[in-house]
Amino acid sequence: MSRFFDGKLSALEPYTPGEQPKDMKKLIKLNTNESPFPPSPRVFEALTRESIEQLRLYPALGITELHRATADFYGIAPEQVFTANGSDEALAFCFHGLCPNGAAFADLTYGFYPVFAGMFQIPYRIIPLREDFTLNIADYAGLRETIFLANPNAPTGLYLEPDRIRALLEQDRDRLVVVDEAYIDFGGESSVALLPEYDNLLVIQTFSKSRQLAGGRLGLAFGSTELIGDLNTLKFSFNPYSVNHLTLLEGAAAMRDRTYFDACRREIIRVRDDTTRELRLRGFSIPESLANFIFAAPPGMSGRTYYEKLRERGILVRYFAGARTDGYVRITIGSEEQMKALLAATDEILKEV
Ligand SMILES: *Cc1c(COP(=O)(O)O)cnc(C)c1O
Repeated sequence: MSRFFDGKLSALEPYTPGEQPKDMKKLIKLNTNESPFPPSPRVFEALTRESIEQLRLYPALGITELHRATADFYGIAPEQVFTANGSDEALAFCFHGLCPNGAAFADLTYGFYPVFAGMFQIPYRIIPLREDFTLNIADYAGLRETIFLANPNAPTGLYLEPDRIRALLEQDRDRLVVVDEAYIDFGGESSVALLPEYDNLLVIQTFSKSRQLAGGRLGLAFGSTELIGDLNTLKFSFNPYSVNHLTLLEGAAAMRDRTYFDACRREIIRVRDDTTRELRLRGFSIPESLANFIFAAPPGMSGRTYYEKLRERGILVRYFAGARTDGYVRITIGSEEQMKALLAATDEILKEV
């Protein structure tokens, strides 16, 4: 640390992203929940010589084709759509500007929430999940903090039905609930449908997991026009041009290509359910996932051991150290071929231990 670093932030513990190995050819990468498929063909078509020439100019502000495509997809107004440089940026604005009474979230959820709280010096309360990793809505009754909820949750994959989200919103209509739907497209139902009824709801989504654009850095927020106005006030007080011109075009193209989106997510769901069944047959314990990953506890060894043995065989998954997560690894659902390789490696490992 240099002597110039602000003492207020000296205890900051930054988020630890999953490894991005340099030599991708040798590794099967199942550790950061990216898509195994390329972006939509329409994204390639959007990247024309003319669109690249436009990089000379600042990107468009206000309502863009991306806003309109997204609004059409969900049947909401374009003014209810906020765009950010990845959903992490949208979440950062929520922590910075939409937590007047602090924040509250589960003990086992997206690891970035406590980091944002630290960065913006927002006090936060941790609400432990039950023994089986399910979330009890009643635990949130009476809390005044802004609630952050990943649905489906990470790293467990467990999903809350819209009636559960509704119950949470009903507890206090003057308390904001931020539903992080990074994984909603793999079998869940989006809470965007609840927006007409609840102005204390903000939904966050990303193009990183179900729309093949993790490298494009594009995230969305949906809420009342007032809430979206607040997010824009924050954005325009920080970096109005955070979403670059090409990413705006890529996002609109991906959003308009419903056929490709549906084909990709259906394939992930199919491979996820097959992989879950196969691993359970081998004695793994796996909570029911509606995400593009599974949280899997191998039989007869720790999560760390399984992680290390997979790594020796060129397969990268994510292990989270911690009392509740020690027995598990999080495995991203890749292509069918990648998951076959995972199963073959797992059979070898199970013979060995
Ligand atoms: C991946 C992920 C994000 C971040 O996505 P980006 O749009 O790539 O910043 C947010 N929330 C959860 C729960 C995630 O898993």
